[in-house]
Amino acid sequence: MIRRSFLLALTSAAMLGGCAYTAANADQPNGDSAPQVPKNIIMVVADGMGPAFTTAYRNYQDDPDTPQVESSVLDDILVGAASTYPAQESGFVTDSAAAATALATGIKSYNGAIGVDSDKQPLESVMHRAKAQGMRTGLAVTSQIVHATPASYVAHNESRHNYDELAESFFDFRVNGEFVADVMLGGGTQFFERKDRDLVAEFIDNGYEYADTYNRLAAVPTGSQVLGLFAPVGLPPALDDTRQNRLSYLTEQAVKHLENDKGFFLLVEASQVDWAAHANDIAAAMAEMHDLALTMAYLKDYVKQHPDTLVILTADHSTGGLTIGADGDYRWSPEYIQNLKASTRAIAANMGEADKPGEFIASQLGFELNDEEKRHFDDLKKANKVERYTALKAFIDGKTNTGWTTSGHTGVDVEVFAFGAGAAALAGKMDNTHIAHTIFSMLARGGSQQQPASEKPVKATNSNPNCDYKSDWRCQ
Ligand SMILES: [Zn+2]
Repeated sequence: MIRRSFLLALTSAAMLGGCAYTAANADQPNGDSAPQVPKNIIMVVADGMGPAFTTAYRNYQDDPDTPQVESSVLDDILVGAASTYPAQESGFVTDSAAAATALATGIKSYNGAIGVDSDKQPLESVMHRAKAQGMRTGLAVTSQIVHATPASYVAHNESRHNYDELAESFFDFRVNGEFVADVMLGGGTQFFERKDRDLVAEFIDNGYEYADTYNRLAAVPTGSQVLGLFAPVGLPPALDDTRQNRLSYLTEQAVKHLENDKGFFLLVEASQVDWAAHANDIAAAMAEMHDLALTMAYLKDYVKQHPDTLVILTADHSTGGLTIGADGDYRWSPEYIQNLKASTRAIAANMGEADKPGEFIASQLGFELNDEEKRHFDDLKKANKVERYTALKAFIDGKTNTGWTTSGHTGVDVEVFAFGAGAAALAGKMDNTHIAHTIFSMLARGGSQQQPASEKPVKATNSNPNCDYKSDWRCQ
């Protein structure tokens, strides 16, 4: 029951954090007297995390011994909701590329677009602007660092699938002669260490520290420029990684290297909530949510000590059409996914080698199976990996009574969370582009006050620092 007490510990930490946050703002009605222009901005994207995921997570980490459902670490930082639709030619349901382009640049584009508009023209991102103003910049993600969300903040490409080209852009594309990101942490050696071009070597030659394990990253001197790639593509799922808290760890490491007098912009992505949801895998989705929750708990603590920092969290879209309860049954039973010893995908893969698959499944899921259930898995021994994974997910969906409507995305609005300096600018119902507009506006009013790039390498957006966002939130 180690995992259980771990969850409970986080719950109490979250509640303490929540109280402290409220107390810090008690003498600052609406946060008005808090600094409105942050020195540091940390943008967190939880890929695929529609509202059902945050509710499911609250239930997942609930203490069943108390009558109330305990708040999650996200509950007291909720400030609004955002629409996510892409540019008109792509309809109402966005992909991660169009949504990330909207969040990064304030401009809606077509599904698949990385930092380019509908005419495939490059757009300036908030990370580019931060860099142009002399701030330090970075990203910490659990996907490959050239995946749609981080790529949209750093690069420009007509297609999210051009991973090799995107990796080259991470090195070749500069803002005022400087690399776009000082710190890049995530997966993706496959795209950076290639036969035709070794971008890792090029970054090292240009002064970057390189780390390919979490422990080596911990040894990098504070304040370095760092490239950290810890897997060929994406990082292992939280449940299978050597560090189940890998996102909070990478976030903490990134902040350590980014802190400086002129401020920093950091993009953090809980990339694999989306991947778990595409697979309709509730156990994996909640494990990724837990890593995100640890990250937010760390960031709450950080803002308490650094009130000049703004943290924003949102999702790019919802994935999977998750429902809490299914098939007319008013029940959701997360206790069946709280004690897994590995990801469902790994358990399904490994059961093929087990003498008694039913017993093996019971030991890996962490709860007793009846004889009929064990026989069901014994009979699956000869099935292939995909069939076994599908059967295990169906079994867990039945136990937990979890519903899914799609293997893709849905067009539902997503929640927006914010705390710290200037968080009040993100209240209420907004479009996802408003988040980028707000950040551009803050960068224009604050930061290092340095002159923006004289020879802008990228097309300027329609973000206008003089715009009154209250009367014209699009600022067009
Ligand atoms: Zn997705």
